[in-house]
Amino acid sequence: MLLPNLLAPDPGADPDWVYGDGELPEKWSIDNDSYAVCDTGQMQSPIVLSDTNARASIAFAASYGEADGKLKRGRGKVQVDVDSGMGMVSGDTLFSLLQMHFHTPAEHMLHGERYPLVVHLVHGSRDGEFAVLGVMFEEGDANPAIAAILDALESEGKEVMLDIASLVPERPDLYRYMGSLTTPPCTEGVNWHVADEVLEASEEQIAAMARILGASNRSLQPLNNRLIIGPED
Ligand SMILES: [Zn+2]
Repeated sequence: MLLPNLLAPDPGADPDWVYGDGELPEKWSIDNDSYAVCDTGQMQSPIVLSDTNARASIAFAASYGEADGKLKRGRGKVQVDVDSGMGMVSGDTLFSLLQMHFHTPAEHMLHGERYPLVVHLVHGSRDGEFAVLGVMFEEGDANPAIAAILDALESEGKEVMLDIASLVPERPDLYRYMGSLTTPPCTEGVNWHVADEVLEASEEQIAAMARILGASNRSLQPLNNRLIIGPED
């Protein structure tokens, strides 16, 4: 199957690239020329979402619930793989959920800031298209799905039962644009969805994720000639 091969090269191994220091953008193609598009692509992610240049409501429906996930941990990575059966319909395309993973802090800039934590729900369509749904978190009440993941990590479990619905706003207003994976190989053609509503996770949960992941957000990328469709007012 096409999709998993386009994701991280080997989910078990530590990656052969590192994040920048926050000053200079990453140049991932210098170390590995199969990552060329990371530095030459014109549709890279993440971006600043306040550059919204269109407003529209787009057909969107999501269904997420309890799932049995397989936990993967690596340098800068906490990922939960799930069997298909859940997902979202965006426009007229059905995208099945493949995996979700976290970044600290968040990657896209939303409401003028980079929130301390984001989950990326990575989906694939039958035609091999990617779609990611990003949901940011700020300090507040504990989140049950994040609690389940942190418990499993602490006990070095390989499986985690979690309610994915608690990671997604009920009826999200969305920013949408065409971008890329935010880690090598930075594959373009990713249908990005970022929720305008920010969910809550506890201070302890955010700190625990940050301790495990370290700084794991790619530098902001130029918008170039892209359309960002923001939620209707
Ligand atoms: Zn991500």
